Amino acid sequence: MDVSAGREQAEALDAADPVAAFRDRFVVDDDSDLVYLDGNSLGRLPKAVAGRLDQVVRDEWGHGLIRSWDDWIDAPAQAGEVLGRHLLGARPDEVLVCDSVTVNLYKLAAAAARARPERRVIVTDDDNFPTDRYVLAGLAEERGLELRLIHADIDAGLDLGTLAAAVDDDTALVCLSQVAYRSGALLDMAEVTRIVHDAGALVIWDLCHSVGAVPIELDAVDTDLAVGCTYKYLNAGPGAPAFCYVRRDFADSLRQPIWGWFGGHEQFEMGPTYRPADGMARFLTGTPPIAGIRAVQTSAELLAEAGIGALRAKGVAMTEYLVALADAWLEPLGFRLASPRDPAQRGSHVTLHHPEAWRICQALIQRAKVIPDYRTPDRLRLGPAPIYTRYVDVWDGLDRLRRVVEDRVYEEYSAEPTRVT
Ligand SMILES: *Cc1c(COP(=O)(O)O)cnc(C)c1O
Repeated sequence: MDVSAGREQAEALDAADPVAAFRDRFVVDDDSDLVYLDGNSLGRLPKAVAGRLDQVVRDEWGHGLIRSWDDWIDAPAQAGEVLGRHLLGARPDEVLVCDSVTVNLYKLAAAAARARPERRVIVTDDDNFPTDRYVLAGLAEERGLELRLIHADIDAGLDLGTLAAAVDDDTALVCLSQVAYRSGALLDMAEVTRIVHDAGALVIWDLCHSVGAVPIELDAVDTDLAVGCTYKYLNAGPGAPAFCYVRRDFADSLRQPIWGWFGGHEQFEMGPTYRPADGMARFLTGTPPIAGIRAVQTSAELLAEAGIGALRAKGVAMTEYLVALADAWLEPLGFRLASPRDPAQRGSHVTLHHPEAWRICQALIQRAKVIPDYRTPDRLRLGPAPIYTRYVDVWDGLDRLRRVVEDRVYEEYSAEPTRVT
C-alpha cells in the first residue's frame, strides 16, 4: 500500500468508511486531539451504555428496588443470548454473562478436566495470557494433573504442527487464545478444534482479544467451551462481567466446581443440598453484577448494529494502513513489525518492536496525546478499534510516534516501568 499521499489519503478513507458514523455513538471529548489506540485494553464509553447504566441505577434499583429482581434474574442469559447470536455464533442457551474471565476459565477448565477423568494432561501455550496459564497451573496442581506448555512464537503465534505433536490420548483439554494478546496472531478455530478432537480432548477458547473484532462461529466449528471479556472491543466498561460458552449438547454432563445457589436447581426452594440447574444455567455462581450485565447487552447491541462483518473489514483495512505507515516511517527508525504481516492471520491490533518501547510509550502518552499500550519485553501495541477509530487517528498517531522517536523526546523518560502498563 502506497502511503505517500499523506493525511489526505486517511481523510478519503474515512469519507468512504461505511461504519464511520458509529464514532458519534461514543463519548469522545470534542476539544481533545487525543489519539486513542488502546481499544483492545479498554474500549471507549458508548453513549447508550451511559444511558442504560443511569436507567439501571435510578429506575430499576432506585425506584424498582427488590421488585426488579423479577427481570434481573434473567439478565445473564439475556445478555448472553444477544452476545451469542450476533458476535459468537452461538444459540440462546449456550452463553451466560457472569463473573470474570479468570473465574469462568476456572469453572470451565475444572469441568472439562473432570469430563476426561482418565486423562492427565492440560495443554496451553507458553505465550498465552498470564491469567490463563496461572489458572491452568493452579488447577493442574490441585488435581494432580500435568500442565504442558507448548512453545508459541511471540510474534508469529502458535504453529499448528506444534499443537498436533503435543496432543495425544492423555490430553484432557487444550486452552488457547484465538487472538494472541501480544502479537495479535489469529488461530484457525476450525482447524485447532479438529486437531484437539482428533486426540479425543476438549478445547477451551479465550476470546478476549477476538470478540467484537473478528467473526466467531462457535457452533459452526463444533467447538466445546469458550470464555471472553467485555471491556475490550465490547466497550462494556472496566470490570464489566465476562461471558462463558458451553456447547448445548454437553452442558448437562459437566460438573461446575463452584456450587453456588444461582447455579442450583430451583434456586428459591432453598433446599438442603445442591443440585445443579439444567443446562448452561449451572455455570452461574452467586448474585450476578446486574449493572455490568446490562452494559454488556447494550454494548453488544451496538456492535451488532454495525455488524461484525463490516467491523472486521474495517479492522483489516485499518491495520493494513497502519502497517504500511509503519513500514514507510518507523522501520527506518529501528522499529520492526511484531505481528503477522498477513491480515488474515491477525486480529485487530498490531504490535511493533523497538528496544526503547517503554520510554517511547511514556513519551507518546504524556507529550504527544497518543495512547498505545506497552507490552513486555519491548513492544508497543496499537489497537485501533474499528467501531470508533478513524483512519486519520491512525495517521496522526503514527505521525506523532515518528516525531517522538526522531526528536528523541523519549530520552527524557525513565526506563523504570510503572505499576500498571
Ligand atoms: C484481558 C484478558 C484477560 C483478562 O481476564 P480478567 O479475568 O478479565 O482479568 C484474560 N485473557 C486474555 C487473553 C485477555 O486478553
